[in-house]
Amino acid sequence: MPRDWQREIDDWTERFRSTARPPEPFATALADGGWTEGAREALAQDAEQYASATAALLAEIAGSGIDLVRFDCKQGSCDVCEKYCGKAYSLRGETPELPSPPPLPICPACRHTLNLLTPFYLQSLGLDIEDLAAEAQPFVD
Ligand SMILES: [Zn+2]
Repeated sequence: MPRDWQREIDDWTERFRSTARPPEPFATALADGGWTEGAREALAQDAEQYASATAALLAEIAGSGIDLVRFDCKQGSCDVCEKYCGKAYSLRGETPELPSPPPLPICPACRHTLNLLTPFYLQSLGLDIEDLAAEAQPFVD
């Protein structure tokens, strides 16, 4: 089921109205008192493109048997998405200690990624599943 970006943009515009740092292009739309048709359409298209690209990538990662992923915020983050940055998720539901990943993108503005967490990488950080579970941040819409 494709996401209804027009509705999401409306909802998130209201949500960002009360946040300290609304992300672009929401900040501009809020400052200007509304969306231009062009800005709104560009955001909806970009969000849909990102959603389908990441869905394909995640299907590939899950298909290769990888379960542990980390939610990474490479391009900054809005106040709403920020709490998920750096948290671990179970892509295939094979790690019951960890929640399912948030949808990508969470909000139409942010472009976060889910990257694999290999056992080797965890070991190099001195971390195990229990450490990740203790910091887990289940997605709440
Ligand atoms: Zn966001």
